[in-house]
Amino acid sequence: MKDISTNREPAELRQILDYLGVAAFVIDVVSADEFRLAAINARHEQLSGMKHSEVAGRSVDELLSPEMAAAIKIRYRRCVESKAATDYQETLDLPIGKTYWQTTLVPFFGESGEVTRLLGTAVEISDQMRLKLETRYQSTVMSAYLDESTDGILVVDANNQIKTWNRRFLEIWNIPVDIMQAGDGDAALQAVLKQVHAPDRFVQRIRKLYTLLKEDEQGVCIKMKDGRVLERNSQGLHGAAGDYWGRIWFYRDVTDLQRMTEHLQHMSQTDPLTGIPNRWTLSEALEKEYRRAQRHGHHLSVLMLDLDHFKQINDRHGHGTGDAVLREFVQIVMPEIRTSDCFARMGGEEFVILLPETSLSSARQLAERLCRAVAAYTFNSADNGFTATVSIGVATLRRNDDNPEHLLSRADQCLYTAKSEGRNRAHPSGDSED
Ligand code: GH3
Ligand code: MG
Ligand code: MG
Repeated sequence: MKDISTNREPAELRQILDYLGVAAFVIDVVSADEFRLAAINARHEQLSGMKHSEVAGRSVDELLSPEMAAAIKIRYRRCVESKAATDYQETLDLPIGKTYWQTTLVPFFGESGEVTRLLGTAVEISDQMRLKLETRYQSTVMSAYLDESTDGILVVDANNQIKTWNRRFLEIWNIPVDIMQAGDGDAALQAVLKQVHAPDRFVQRIRKLYTLLKEDEQGVCIKMKDGRVLERNSQGLHGAAGDYWGRIWFYRDVTDLQRMTEHLQHMSQTDPLTGIPNRWTLSEALEKEYRRAQRHGHHLSVLMLDLDHFKQINDRHGHGTGDAVLREFVQIVMPEIRTSDCFARMGGEEFVILLPETSLSSARQLAERLCRAVAAYTFNSADNGFTATVSIGVATLRRNDDNPEHLLSRADQCLYTAKSEGRNRAHPSGDSED
């Protein structure tokens, strides 16, 4: 190849180089340690902030900082010694800031075959580099997040291929890691289905979500065969143009949380001494049965029960025996009522029985039966056995009752009458409706 560069003057070289769309420069190789900048083109001037007229003929040691010059001379020397084109990426601190370059050096040869000049072309790749660094940063943050998350996370692409997952996902689902690594969404689904309590419903829901690309899902409960309960959330992933990228699934083990919630719910609804519903549960049931009775024209009756002279029982036998009487009283009543009746402790030694679809006369018969059963029972204390009695007010819903509280307050009035008429008796309200 004929060397065309050696005869040309820097000004002429520059004219040629200016036509290139990249930053270009020519280096004169003076010795293994001395390299002079012969020319830079207009694009180079623009990007580097240098001027051809100011740099032409000067050595890189004069133009650059000692560190930059040393680093650049290593590159030039490598091209000179290999006598071949070389490529490298470099970072330059220029007046315009930190810039990244993809540079190619091409050697030109003198008469005796030695390298006399280098032609360098540099393409600025700062934008790509910054994007790459930003992407690396994002993915580092993302994997830290995935590792630390208490949710099991799975990401699948638009073809249901597994893209990524976290450690917690494997722990929750016990899926062999090779299935995950193979990226096979269907194989992973099969492993999951073996563990869930209702696989048909599970798979149906998942398939539906894979068709409803835009749909999000929140707080879906999944019962597992081993007794665990998982909560699932999922979200479709979409590009800026709305194109579907796949879906992200979150699984959380809520077994303990659910047990605690159930326990708290039970505690809030139940009387701790006797284990039957409390006042709060009764008023919920009353509200519900009142509406049902109104709608269907059914009977609805209530009994209000209060143990007689209970204070004396406590005083004579002690508070502990008083508690035992309350528990045994519940056991006496229980077999006499239906499962659809709601038997609740309102507080102290006062109870209510809500009787859906029960007329006043049936309610009264039940109340009288309960009075007899309690009176016939022998309670035990430390020293001897004793008896107790109960008084009961009986009321039934009237057509013109516009509030379930009316029913309760009539039963309360009847209880008061039963007490004042001598206790150990049932007193029904004077309704003639049944
Ligand atoms: P009456 O026949 O008029 O209903 O008289 P009484 O003594 O049953 O009614 P009073 O309201 O005067 O007394 C109720 C007593 O019940 C007073 C209270 O100390 C007692 N008591 C309330 N809650 C409990 C409890 O959980 N356990 C025990 N052992 N006693 C209780
Ligand atoms: Mg009492
Ligand atoms: Mg009382």
